[in-house]
Amino acid sequence: MPILTGPGTCPAPFVRVRGPMANSSDTINKALVGITTPDGKPLAGVDIVVAGDRVTASIAIDPTDAARWEPIRRQAEARIAAVPGVVRALVSLTAERLADAAKPAAKPITNLAPGFPNLAKIKHIIAVASGKGGVGKSTTACNLALTLRAQGLRIGILDADIYGPSMPKLLNLKGRPNVVPGSAGGRTLSPLEAYGCKVMSIGFVVDVDKALVWRGPMVASAITQMLRDIAWGPLDVLIVDMPPGTGDAQLTLAQSVPLAGAVIVSTPQDLALIDARRGVEMFQTVGVPILGLIENMSYFLCDQCGKRHEIFSHGGARMEATKLGVPFLGEIPLDLAIRQRADSGLPIVVTEPDGPQAEVYRGIATAMMAGLSG
Ligand code: ADP
Repeated sequence: MPILTGPGTCPAPFVRVRGPMANSSDTINKALVGITTPDGKPLAGVDIVVAGDRVTASIAIDPTDAARWEPIRRQAEARIAAVPGVVRALVSLTAERLADAAKPAAKPITNLAPGFPNLAKIKHIIAVASGKGGVGKSTTACNLALTLRAQGLRIGILDADIYGPSMPKLLNLKGRPNVVPGSAGGRTLSPLEAYGCKVMSIGFVVDVDKALVWRGPMVASAITQMLRDIAWGPLDVLIVDMPPGTGDAQLTLAQSVPLAGAVIVSTPQDLALIDARRGVEMFQTVGVPILGLIENMSYFLCDQCGKRHEIFSHGGARMEATKLGVPFLGEIPLDLAIRQRADSGLPIVVTEPDGPQAEVYRGIATAMMAGLSG
């Protein structure tokens, strides 16, 4: 999305406004004028996305200073919300990590944005992403989460794939999250539970048919809101099944959620890899460490003839990872049992924990977690 105003052209210095409503940029800028930083300087470095009547904004800060910035975040949110025509305003603090963007698998970002008190007891949030849909991102996210659970970690799964939430099916999960009283008189949602993991799906809280036509910032704002409102409790890892692609929704999410790292799932073909490359670039742009690339549907091991068939010309993701200087986490075969188990809500790592497929997921999960610890 184009940057409509920028340093030197907008009234508040360093305030960038993106989005279709060029005329509203002045109004939003003016609303923020007069807010001062913890050091008494005029507020700068706010990234604002305007989408119709919704405004999302992020303020990049030094994470060690998060507590001092929280009142400023609230003030900015209140000011934007008070602008006539704005129905929803969401302002988040993001860790200033752009300087680290080029470093692959940097050390974990365990600081948690103060705008998300419900995430405060989560050690690591990992995004599982793909440049495009249908590459097996959700199946991989689900099996990796359950692998970590089997290793004794406390796991949450957030199905943020608004274009096709699949965790209810993958985990055979039905029901609705309970609304429980939250802190400061607010409401929180308690996640559902499957195979010992806490699970929340965007499909539980929005009408997915309507959401399909939402603009990127609306998607991001719905997901960010959901992250804020879910009572996860203490977790070792929260796996976020991202919406596929590298549009505005994904970018805003990657910016506003305190991610410890991202893994990119791709199939081996060139076209899928071009999309995967975009995914890597997107996360690196916002300073989220790339924990690695996974090649899904890498090869087909025939249970009849016993031969290995490389249907999508295996090895592309490994080569791409080397080219991009990011870790390669492993290859998952195109496997009938993986698909059947996934599609019937009986994930293979749970139902066949001693099988060769579970072994593959274990290897990938171990490599992924190793990236987190530096
Ligand atoms: P995405 O989240 O990228 O859209 P899904 O995880 O929903 O993709 O997977 C798409 C389809 O591919 C599903 O039917 C799933 O069961 C199947 N699938 C995913 N990974 C594999 C695999 N390694 N082997 C066989 N089928 C797979």
